[in-house]
Amino acid sequence: MTLFRRKPHRKSILRRDSARIEGETVEEQSVALSTRLKKAPEKHRARASFVGRIVGVESNTWLVEDHYTYHQPHDVPFSPTHLCITGGVVTTDNREDESLLAVGDWVEIAHMPDDERRGVIVHVRQRQTRLFRRSPGEHEVQVIAANVERAFLVHSVALPYFSRRLLDRHLIAAEQGGVEPVIVFNKIDLGVPPEIDQVIKYYRDQLGIPICRTSAIRGDGISELRALMRGVTSILIGASGVGKSALVNACFGISLQQVRAISRKYERGRHTTTNARLFHLQDGGELVDTPGMREFALAELEPEELAFYFHDFDEYSPECKYQPCTHTHEPNCAVRAAVERGVIPFERYESYLLILESL
Ligand code: GDP
Ligand code: ZN
Repeated sequence: MTLFRRKPHRKSILRRDSARIEGETVEEQSVALSTRLKKAPEKHRARASFVGRIVGVESNTWLVEDHYTYHQPHDVPFSPTHLCITGGVVTTDNREDESLLAVGDWVEIAHMPDDERRGVIVHVRQRQTRLFRRSPGEHEVQVIAANVERAFLVHSVALPYFSRRLLDRHLIAAEQGGVEPVIVFNKIDLGVPPEIDQVIKYYRDQLGIPICRTSAIRGDGISELRALMRGVTSILIGASGVGKSALVNACFGISLQQVRAISRKYERGRHTTTNARLFHLQDGGELVDTPGMREFALAELEPEELAFYFHDFDEYSPECKYQPCTHTHEPNCAVRAAVERGVIPFERYESYLLILESL
């Protein structure tokens, strides 16, 4: 099939795409949209023979479960995948300045004529949600996972220290991507200090965010967490050491590291423990595992937009004298006044200032 190897149209938009999750990089050159394709995109898409969901990536190959296999009940966390590459031309329903492909994407694929299990990605369907960050050292928006309904923002009450600023970043990223956040406070068996208890209540009562208090060791909150994962695609994000693996293990009796080791044997892949991978849960539902996500740099956020993500400022910001107001130095700032009165906790405002500075 030379069709996919043809030179891109002269006026087409060439883009470099990289699927990168800490360290491993898959560089691709693909054409998002060519002028010729703009005229007859259906013709291009008509080459696809099946639809599937990207569940992982290994060196320069995307692992795709076809629609049929994907929707079967799953006793084990993974199914045989199609090994897919991008050919010369890939059309997309998504924006061109973000990763062309990501784990969780629904794609349309053409079979390789000689091998049932190999395919070429022809088209990427519209993402419903996208959890993204700025890729380390680059400007491009890196989509960590697509079409994820719920993000569990895992933090621990201690070991490592609870970082309010990281939690606020996580909340912003979830809102930007249209993903529903659930805050998980793990390791409550270590005792919840009163100041953290106050923080938990603030996020729940003032910001209306669902909270799960868990102990992977003692079993607290595990059935609740499991119920929240049922029937949706979710993702666990959090600093290393907060207990993400332990929580998955407590919920489903599986260790994701072990599952990865087994699935790798099936997929003939080698050393890709750091890439995102989508797994099926026995209860129905999918979980995207993203090991080694140490950094979380916000992308696509202008400094003057930041305050809109701090919903506890909403009530006060219309009363600021200057509009727009950055709530930093302007006189008669209603948000700062609210902080001084103690209705907005100082730590929350501090977190706003620190994130603002980082933009
Ligand atoms: P991950 O890096 O987020 O996947 O964290 P892990 O699941 O590897 O856990 C990091 C460490 O925290 C391990 O030593 C776990 O045994 C411990 N840990 C995880 N959950 C809990 C918990 O609920 N309570 C306590 N006390 N320790 C936990
Ligand atoms: Zn203000």
